[in-house]
Amino acid sequence: MSTRPSIAVTSRLTGMACLRCAEPWPVAEYEAGCPRCAAEGHASNLRLTYLPGERGASLPYPEALSLGEGGTPLVELPELASELKLGKLSAKLEWCNPTGSHKDRMSAQLIARALDRGAERVVAASSGNGGLSVAAYAARAGLSAEIATTEALPRVYRRAITAYGATLVSFADSMVRWKHLAKRVGEGAFAATNYMVPAIGTNPFGIEGYKKIAAELAAGTMPDLVVMPCSRGDLLSGIRLGFEEIGAGVPMLVAAEPFARLERVLAGADYREPFAGDTAQASIAGSTVTWQAVEALRASTGRAVPVDDGAARAAQSRLAACGLHAELSAASALAALAILAAGGGLAGRHAVIVLTGSGSRDPGDSDMAARPQDEAAPDGALAQPATTGVSPQRTDPSVQQRENG
Ligand SMILES: [Zn+2]
Repeated sequence: MSTRPSIAVTSRLTGMACLRCAEPWPVAEYEAGCPRCAAEGHASNLRLTYLPGERGASLPYPEALSLGEGGTPLVELPELASELKLGKLSAKLEWCNPTGSHKDRMSAQLIARALDRGAERVVAASSGNGGLSVAAYAARAGLSAEIATTEALPRVYRRAITAYGATLVSFADSMVRWKHLAKRVGEGAFAATNYMVPAIGTNPFGIEGYKKIAAELAAGTMPDLVVMPCSRGDLLSGIRLGFEEIGAGVPMLVAAEPFARLERVLAGADYREPFAGDTAQASIAGSTVTWQAVEALRASTGRAVPVDDGAARAAQSRLAACGLHAELSAASALAALAILAAGGGLAGRHAVIVLTGSGSRDPGDSDMAARPQDEAAPDGALAQPATTGVSPQRTDPSVQQRENG
């Protein structure tokens, strides 16, 4: 193991502030979110604040260890634009990041934060892409990593995560997985995903990494709307914060979700309630909503659009016919856009869909799920051991319990 690199936070960082009550806070890890909101029974993530003076989107760790993340292609889809009566439609190919998803932008900043904090170990709860990304960046930094997942995780992810040297533990229930992370954080590990209930979102230092998507989009012709898959809203919140910092206006942000969660909150439901639903869109499954997602939609006059699995599959096929094979969850962005376009009001507008992961692998492919023999067993007190061996094709009843990470 090589000596761990020393990475300093930018001198322009001045502090943090709550996304809900705007209270300023000193730079620290706030595991339960804003302390003032927590005392009032609310769960809200924080954002970072910077000295003014730099154009573009700031990063807390500009010198973070990179694997080449960011600068992803923006591909025009003129035929689809014409079908949907849009002026212009482009797809941001986030699967071109080093481990194949948008999560790499977040992992680079998270691992820099973990190094800065002197952490020896990072832990993440993941349905697939997040865990894979954290494992890779932790390996790059010489940090040990433990990824807590569910039995449904496909073998292709298991192989990759363990190839990076990370420990993989499987749980029958995703909420138990979050308790496992809380235990590890209590032991000094750095959390690279949310593990709180009500959910808050990932450490704000990581979310900052997504601001660069806004910067890359704003460097071209500013879109009128940006549509993306959404679960706990890390990506959504990061893109919103990026556009706000750039100062050229915030496009309408649209959250595609597999069943009505954010849509119900925008209609008046309490964001802290559970919103149960079943879906094969594994990367954006889960029953929780975060304040950061709600706030990003409100700040951008945005929308939440439920996309059922059938609509996501149709969108996946349509994208594939354009040469883009997206993960089912990612394809939901096109389905959500089509739903909005059918409702009218988008004629001639410029839309971007964020394709977060490739269809060449998918956390929702439960027929590929199987725990290899070399995988670590979870701690007995908190976990129910996963079944070893090849699982038959199945409809996983626990799918509605999954929480992405
Ligand atoms: Zn607050």
